[in-house]
Amino acid sequence: MTRIGLEVHVPLDTAAKLYCRCPAGEAQRPNAHVCPTCTGQPGARPRGVNERAVELAVQAARVLDCHREERSTVLRKHYVYPDLPNNYQRTTTPVGREGSFWEVGIREVHLEEDPGAFDPGEGTVDLNRSGRPLVEIVTEPDLSSPEEVTTWFRVLRLALERAGVARPEAELKADVNVSTDGGDRVEVKNVVGARNAARAARFEIDRQRRERDAGREVGMSTRHYDEAKHTTQPSREKETVGDYRYMDEPDLRPIDLSAPAQRLDPPADVPSRVRELRAEVDVELGEALALLEEPELEELFAELRERTDDGMAVDVVLHRLRGELDYRDTRLAESPARRDTVAELALAWHADEITKHVFTRLLRAHLDGEAIGDQLAAERDGGVDLEAAVEEAIEANPGAVDDYEAGEEGAVNYLVGQVMQATQGRADPKETRETLREALEN
Ligand SMILES: [Zn+2]
Repeated sequence: MTRIGLEVHVPLDTAAKLYCRCPAGEAQRPNAHVCPTCTGQPGARPRGVNERAVELAVQAARVLDCHREERSTVLRKHYVYPDLPNNYQRTTTPVGREGSFWEVGIREVHLEEDPGAFDPGEGTVDLNRSGRPLVEIVTEPDLSSPEEVTTWFRVLRLALERAGVARPEAELKADVNVSTDGGDRVEVKNVVGARNAARAARFEIDRQRRERDAGREVGMSTRHYDEAKHTTQPSREKETVGDYRYMDEPDLRPIDLSAPAQRLDPPADVPSRVRELRAEVDVELGEALALLEEPELEELFAELRERTDDGMAVDVVLHRLRGELDYRDTRLAESPARRDTVAELALAWHADEITKHVFTRLLRAHLDGEAIGDQLAAERDGGVDLEAAVEEAIEANPGAVDDYEAGEEGAVNYLVGQVMQATQGRADPKETRETLREALEN
């Protein structure tokens, strides 16, 4: 049996860092957003805790349905590494515990400060990140496959984004704990994003099985994920809880957690929304998540459900539009296309004012940056009924059809010519060819 637990680090969407007032957003150059506190200068003390970060940590605990604490103590967690100028990282006693999210138990949620970034190749340290607020979410080992890891991670990210907790552009990082067949737990540190977390779990499951098959023990250990090779490697440093020498932070008072909870609206229940959507329109889990992950798509989908029907909304948004967006490796909001125009196009198709082929052609042109208003208008009045013209050409030319079936490619050109003639050249030649081939293959 495989048991997988995660420790997820979520960068919080605050303007300032956790214990100083430096900006928490992206900087133009290394070490631009720094002060004596977040660079650990001798004698520099933390300012009071960032209240907004406390609110967001409490909100995260609510998203995860945790039992919430009244107050939380700031702790120093000691270790030595070039990215950590104080030689300790500030974390807290749990903000929430014993929660549950998407059928996975939540052990604890903490508020922490991020360390800086050390580049071992260059030997440089960038402390822009040092002191930015994070929540650390520790799950029970309730996941049992890499696929479950991907899904859980995606639903979590979505819920935290909708609740305004996670910084939208930031990647979630996780430590992935994997044990197989009742063996010891192996921890894979610092894995970035859902896809890599699933890959790291997959590699560990296979590696631990191979070890056992070869008669070797799988002992408790810490490993690192190699993103380029999709493998895990043993880590040099050994870390245990005892090594961290936790102590109370003498420069900060315990954090009050009850007042922020009262200021906040309850977060949206994303897991229920996912389940509702699947029950309403019969879509795959991955499709439901893709829809909710992109608000522009979700709004278009809702509009088309209202103005056409569920089948049309699923076909246009989840199959055709998403396929075209994936092909261009973009999202609707970042593409040149406008949601209104795509809706108009879908409505024209739904009303039989244009054919499926015209819909597809204009959708592609629009996604490639063309304004398609005039073309759509022209198609609407006096557009070509390409499917009918193709049918006619096939029926009127059985000889050419026989030639095509005998492997004569030139026969298609002949039939395209016939359609062009019948439509007085208004049909699109490329589209005519595609429609002909489709008709001939059926
Ligand atoms: Zn600072």
